[in-house]
Amino acid sequence: METKVCIIGAGPGGACAALQLAQMGIPSIVVDKAVFPRDKVCGDGLSGKVLTILERIDKDMGKRLQQAVFKMDSWGVKFVAPNRIGMDIPYAPNYQEDMSNPRGFVCKRIDFDNFLVDEMKRRPEITLYEGTSIDKYELLSDGYLLSNNSGTFQVKTQLVIVANGAHSSFTKDVAGIKMEPEHYVAGIRAYYKGITGLHKDNFIELHFLKEMLPGYLWIFPLPNGEANVGVGMLSNNARNNKINLKKLMVDTLAADPVMKERFANAELVGSIDGYGLPLGSKKRKLHGERYMLVGDAGYLIDPFTGEGIGNALYSGRIAAQKAAAAIAANDFSDKFLDAYDEDVYRILGPELQVSTKLQKLIKYPWLFNWLMKMGSRNKQLQELMSCMFHEVDLRKKLGKPMFYVKLLFNR
Ligand SMILES: Cc1cc2nc3c(=O)[nH]c(=O)nc-3n(C[C@H](O)[C@H](O)[C@H](O)COP(=O)(O)OP(=O)(O)OC[C@H]3O[C@@H](n4cnc5c(N)ncnc54)[C@H](O)[C@@H]3O)c2cc1C
Repeated sequence: METKVCIIGAGPGGACAALQLAQMGIPSIVVDKAVFPRDKVCGDGLSGKVLTILERIDKDMGKRLQQAVFKMDSWGVKFVAPNRIGMDIPYAPNYQEDMSNPRGFVCKRIDFDNFLVDEMKRRPEITLYEGTSIDKYELLSDGYLLSNNSGTFQVKTQLVIVANGAHSSFTKDVAGIKMEPEHYVAGIRAYYKGITGLHKDNFIELHFLKEMLPGYLWIFPLPNGEANVGVGMLSNNARNNKINLKKLMVDTLAADPVMKERFANAELVGSIDGYGLPLGSKKRKLHGERYMLVGDAGYLIDPFTGEGIGNALYSGRIAAQKAAAAIAANDFSDKFLDAYDEDVYRILGPELQVSTKLQKLIKYPWLFNWLMKMGSRNKQLQELMSCMFHEVDLRKKLGKPMFYVKLLFNR
C-alpha cells in the first residue's frame, strides 16, 4: 500500500491526527496492533481540553461525546494534602448556576478510545487496520517503508505520524529518546465498586498521602457506582526506595483510617494493572526526517496532573496541520517539520513548565499542607485556584515564592 500519511497507533493522539486530516480532506492509513474496543491503563480523567479539541475538529463530534452515556460528568477536583485537609476546586467558579455544559469527564478508556475509533470509521478518508503491529521502519529516499515483523503487512508512506504510546520503539530507536526515571511516572490503576464519600458533583480526588509522597492516590468516579482508583509515583522514587505500588495501594486502602472506612464495602472489579507515564518535564525534539511524534510517543504528559489525553489530542491535531503543510509544499524534511515542535511547545510548553515546577513542590509537604489550610478558609484563594485550570499565567504564580508571601500577609 502507498499513502501520503501513515499513523501508527489509534489511541487519542493517532485518532485525533487522522480525524483532523480527514476534516481537511486528506486521506490517511491508521494502523493499531490492538483490536478495538481495547483497554488502556489510565485514570480515565478527561479534562476540558478534550472537548475543546474535538469541537475544533468537528462541532458535531463534540456534541456526540457530550451526549454519550458511558461517561460521568465531573465538575471539579478535590485536593487532599498530607495533613488530610482537603480543598474542593471547581473547574469553573459558580458552576452550580449552569450545569448544562460539563467540560470535564471521567470515562473508561475502553469506551472513550472506542468512541474515537467509531468516529474514524465514519470518515471515508481514513483506512484503519486493527490487530496489526508496525515493528519495522525503513527510511528510503522517497518515504518510509513500515511493516510488521513477518513482512506480511507493508505500507510505503511519505510521512509517519508516530502515536503508538509510552512504549514506542520508534521513539527509542529512531528518535533516540530514552526513558529517564526522573522524567517518567510509574502508575497503577484498578476499578472499585461501592466506595463511599464520593463528591455529589463527581469531583475527581487527588490524595497526597504522607506514605505516598511524592506520589499520590486518585479516586475518579465513574458511572454505575464504579470508580477508577490508582497510584502514580516518579519512577526514580519508586525504584530507589524499592516501592511496590500495588502493595502500597492495597495496604493504604486497608489501613489508612479514612480510606479504610470509605472502602469498607468496596469491591475490586477486575485486576490491578500498571503502565508508564512519559512526562513532558523535559523539552525534546519531536520530529525528524519524515516523522512527527505525538502524545505519549513524544513524552507530553503533564508532570503535575498526569494528564496526557488532552496533550495527545493537541499534538495529534497540530501534527495533522503540519502534515497538510508538508504535503502542500512536497517537503517532508526534518527542517520543514521544525514548525511542528514550534507549535507544540508554543501551545503546551508554558503549561508543561509550570507543572514541572508544581511537581517539585510536592517534595515539600509542609508547603502543601499550609496551602490547603489557607485555601480551606479562604474563598478568594479557592476561586483563584479554580481560574488556574483555564489560565496558565495564573498557574505560573504557584511556582513563585512571592505568591506564598502575599498569601500569608493578605489573609
Ligand atoms: C496509570 C495511568 C493513569 C493515567 N491517568 C490519566 C488521566 O486520568 N487523564 C489523562 O488525560 N491521562 C492519563 N494518563 C495518560 C494517558 O493514558 C496517556 O497520556 C494517553 O493514553 C496518550 O495517548 P496516546 O494516543 O499518545 O497513546 P495510547 O493511548 O497509549 O495509544 C497508543 C496506541 O498505539 C497502539 N500501538 C502500540 N504499539 C504499536 C505498534 N507497534 N504498532 C501499531 N500500534 C501500536 C496501541 O495499541 C494503542 O492503541 C494516565 C496514564 C497511566 C499509565
